[in-house]
Amino acid sequence: MERGDALYEGKAKRVYATADPKKVILHFRDDATAFNGVKKASIEDKGRINCAMTVHLLREVEAAGVKTHLIDVLNDRELLCWKVDIVPVEVVVRNAIAGSLAKRYGKPEGAWLPWPLVEYFHKSDELNDPLMTEDIAVLFGWAERRELAWMKEQSLKVNEVLRGFWSRLDIDLVDFKLEFGRLDGGLVLADEITADGSRLWEKGTGRKLDKDVFRRDLGDLSDTYRELYRRVFGHALEGT
Ligand code: UDP
Repeated sequence: MERGDALYEGKAKRVYATADPKKVILHFRDDATAFNGVKKASIEDKGRINCAMTVHLLREVEAAGVKTHLIDVLNDRELLCWKVDIVPVEVVVRNAIAGSLAKRYGKPEGAWLPWPLVEYFHKSDELNDPLMTEDIAVLFGWAERRELAWMKEQSLKVNEVLRGFWSRLDIDLVDFKLEFGRLDGGLVLADEITADGSRLWEKGTGRKLDKDVFRRDLGDLSDTYRELYRRVFGHALEGT
């Protein structure tokens, strides 16, 4: 499938048109950003690692009945996906207190929640993705109530699958963000699933195996992502 015009430039991915108006190409770059693009760097092999990770994890959640935008793998940085109309709602699922939740309510990071918490943020770089209630999302026309209910249910299902997956690799899934897109009258999961958008803590040590290594200057993110790749696939990334 040939790449057409670039349709959208994200912080770590680029979306290209294809000859088929119903399909797009998702290209994973090596860029890392934090604090809404204020901190930037190029992280060697990050694009390849996140592409492989996304394919693996989208297939895991599909096996559990969650529909996604993934159609095919084109190469080690590019996926063929259904073109969707992205719902401007970021769904965050949390199993433990961390990040903005800890900061917002003055809670220490690391306490496990008795059940998973689902939060909605409005997808807007301009506004820095503000937290919102379900009523705000509906009142401002960003999503219908039944869409929010569907996204919540699907996100909790994804949480169950991913929690089990990471747990078998001795890693705790602390939280993650998902986006959904409208396709043929329904909604599909239309996002990457990587350590850019998840918090992953090594069981026992609590060592961070995610983008917080970059956000908080805790070490070399490329080394961290290579280690994660080895744990998931059982071998080192080719050519490294
Ligand atoms: N997250 C993301 N994109 C965003 C905001 C958050 O992928 O624009 C992910 C983040 O990596 C973490 C989870 O969502 O796994 C919860 O993030 P949080 O609200 O704690 O914000 P942060 O501390 O990352 O600013």
